[in-house]
Amino acid sequence: MASSTAAFSSSSSDSRGTQKIAAAANKTAAESSHHHFLTQAYDRLRQAIAAREDNNSTLPTPNQLTAAISDLPRPSQPHFLSARGPEATLDHLHSAIIPALNGQSLSSRYYGFVTGGVLPVAEAADNIVTALDQNVQVHLPENHSVSTCVEDSALSMVSSLLDLNRNSGYVWSSRTFTTGATASNMVGLACAREAVISWRLPNNPDSKSPADLGLLAACRAAGVSDIQILTSMAHSSIYKAASIVGLGHDAVREVRAHSGDDEPWRLDLDAVERELATADESCVATIIVVNAGEVNTGRFATQAFDMPKLRSLADRYKAWIHVDGAFGIFARALPKTDDFLSLHANAAGLELADSIAADGHKLLNVPYDNGIFFSRHPDIVTQVFQNPNAAYLSSSASSSSIQSPLNVGIENSRRFRALPVYAALLSEGREGYARMLANMVLLARNIAQFVRDSEAFEWLPSENAPLESTFMIVLFRARDPRLNNILVERINETRQIFVSGTSWKGEKAVRLAVGSWRVDVERDAAVITEVLTSIASAASVSR
Ligand SMILES: *Cc1c(COP(=O)(O)O)cnc(C)c1O
Repeated sequence: MASSTAAFSSSSSDSRGTQKIAAAANKTAAESSHHHFLTQAYDRLRQAIAAREDNNSTLPTPNQLTAAISDLPRPSQPHFLSARGPEATLDHLHSAIIPALNGQSLSSRYYGFVTGGVLPVAEAADNIVTALDQNVQVHLPENHSVSTCVEDSALSMVSSLLDLNRNSGYVWSSRTFTTGATASNMVGLACAREAVISWRLPNNPDSKSPADLGLLAACRAAGVSDIQILTSMAHSSIYKAASIVGLGHDAVREVRAHSGDDEPWRLDLDAVERELATADESCVATIIVVNAGEVNTGRFATQAFDMPKLRSLADRYKAWIHVDGAFGIFARALPKTDDFLSLHANAAGLELADSIAADGHKLLNVPYDNGIFFSRHPDIVTQVFQNPNAAYLSSSASSSSIQSPLNVGIENSRRFRALPVYAALLSEGREGYARMLANMVLLARNIAQFVRDSEAFEWLPSENAPLESTFMIVLFRARDPRLNNILVERINETRQIFVSGTSWKGEKAVRLAVGSWRVDVERDAAVITEVLTSIASAASVSR
């Protein structure tokens, strides 16, 4: 049998056929064999997926999961890490691994976490990315690759989709693709930290920045005693990012409106103002994180006129505003019709921030992993992320407005993750995304209305909220505490839909997050309400 290195050589089983093709196409037998293998592998994948789409499968069965786990190679096995060759490996992937993966991108009825789906055109583009394996790090458009230009074009389409240039005085010239909103939040906090210290640093002889000096020396030189992050119900990744950039979890401070009350996701602007003033007196610098899309409720930290006020406070106290808009910022791409006016109001003014994090792999419906970062402070971004002393990494076009991606974000070598976004935006356009997002919101509101009106369930966070406050997440619980305790399991064991659990005000709750391009409002609402109705009536019978 073929060894691993010889697996594609003329010793493989179909050598005679491939040699003939090779002669005709003027390719080596090995090259033809690669093509043959990949073409067949792709056909086989599409067939396997078609079968699963027919079943609308949301999750693998427990048996498929156990079988896959027991099939994983173990160091104790005699043949551990001996070459199987590509054919046998592909057989293994199809028989064991694929059946044990969930159907989050294959079904419109997977409502766990916030995952989004994958538009077919984005999947096709992602296969191009893998096949051509571009390393998008240095901007070399004249003689190397167009990839950095495509990336820049994709980012300018995203910024237009999100209407970030609404305020013509601001230019979002520093922008990049990251691995996700967590990475974008980390990049945002790294820039914020650099800026709030830089803005207080006296001119020093060598013009050293915090990036040069390091956090501790820069704070000493700037007379900064501490750095705090003011926010409301921030996503866990903000705490993680605070730790990574050396500020610490404890730096994150909640300034919720009406704390413990009905709207804990809202930022209390009066409290922010008081905190800024007090901080200023004790040489504490401040970063403000606006949570545009709270992960349990989908609600927003700000309302219509909050952002201009926040901007002027930040300017007065040299604070940086970062928006965590992982999924919420896409409210700005909804149709501008009455149905969505209140969501547009929630997302208004976010373009007044200093930096913005968004996710591509959630509501843009491109494959993992894909995050987006925008800032309007190229000087700060460059200070933090520039690779110093690397002549071999300099770009040819120093006059270009496109920065080399390796000097804008965390990674140097990078995947061409712009291409699926580029393809999806070209294909769907502004109208296509507006329609897609509207469908998600309409399905979520349909379910919100159902749980609000039902006797068995309670719509959270408040049954008195207007339906128009619902974006694409529905939070609810069963009124019967015994059913509520097992509600997530009951829903998921129907295998018709998949939801994830959370806790709201100390009690279990269900989150149903709609995020796929596959949504069909009537069809999907019928399935969801039927599942919930039958669970509620079975529970009342068993009492
Ligand atoms: C999902 C999410 C994140 C984290 O994003 P990843 O893509 O998982 O890195 C951060 N903030 C919010 C509000 C989110 O919904």
